[in-house]
Amino acid sequence: MVHYVNCNKICEKTAMNQRTIKTAIAVTGTGLHSGQPVDLEFHPQPVDTGIVFERSDIVGSEPIPASAFLVQDTMMSSNLVFGGTRVGTVEHLLSAIAGLGVDNLLVRVSASEIPIMDGSAAPFVALLLDAGFCEQEAAKKFIKIIRPVRVKLEDKWAELRPYEGYELNFEIDFDHPAFDKNFQHAQLQFSTQNFIEQLSTARTFGFLRDIEALRQNNLALGGSMENAIVIDDANILNAEGLRFNDEFVRHKILDALGDLHLIGYPILGRFNAYKSGHALNNLLVREILSDEDNFEIVTFDDNVTCPIEYLPLSDLVIEG
Ligand SMILES: [Zn+2]
Repeated sequence: MVHYVNCNKICEKTAMNQRTIKTAIAVTGTGLHSGQPVDLEFHPQPVDTGIVFERSDIVGSEPIPASAFLVQDTMMSSNLVFGGTRVGTVEHLLSAIAGLGVDNLLVRVSASEIPIMDGSAAPFVALLLDAGFCEQEAAKKFIKIIRPVRVKLEDKWAELRPYEGYELNFEIDFDHPAFDKNFQHAQLQFSTQNFIEQLSTARTFGFLRDIEALRQNNLALGGSMENAIVIDDANILNAEGLRFNDEFVRHKILDALGDLHLIGYPILGRFNAYKSGHALNNLLVREILSDEDNFEIVTFDDNVTCPIEYLPLSDLVIEG
């Protein structure tokens, strides 16, 4: 179990600069769909690179930028396709990257999907903390929402509104015995600390009947109770139960944080969503970027306090 140093310092009085990782680091996990081992590597990158993916199993693979415009398929996960090359299931990793405020990073992966790990963002958080961070000589850029934008699909909707900080509100509506009606709404006031403690460990979930159908189509072959909360017609099947009473909706916020990060910068705004998913989250990002009157790109220097609390680099330490 990883423990994090508790810290309430705010980034005030220090310029908010971009960060990358200190050293390259690698891990091997399992592909959710293939069930096969997948190697994952993180490498430091220069300022203004952003988050870039590369396929280590394809010789001469073109870098794939983490851009909402490259999302081609939102079946169960967010999948980027660029020049015919695919990197799937990017949302939990992007959530960890957003949560820790990493601006520049190369992610190399040996298959068409990011490994599922334990179905949450926590293993990626641990890996990034292990690599360590270094501050770079350029101001961190944010995208500030200046005009509300809302998208809808049937009864589902998602919106981003102007807000001093980053807040995510999510409501789900599952009429199912395993979903307690009292725990279908959650809110995250974004900071690195809140992300790590309240969101990063929330796991993905799936219904047994859907998983069986996917397996018949050679999908979800790596899916198990090791990397998802599995629900049958009435119950949660995982012996250990839930990590939070509202773990399902917390995971939906974790997904949204990752999906929204494909906007290209950390967000200053308030996200509200009802029954949203990868497709609608992606549509929202595209809608915002479609009109320059919806946003502006901002930085914070020594004299202006950043409304988002990222833990200072020195406090991002793993204990034990
Ligand atoms: Zn997810």
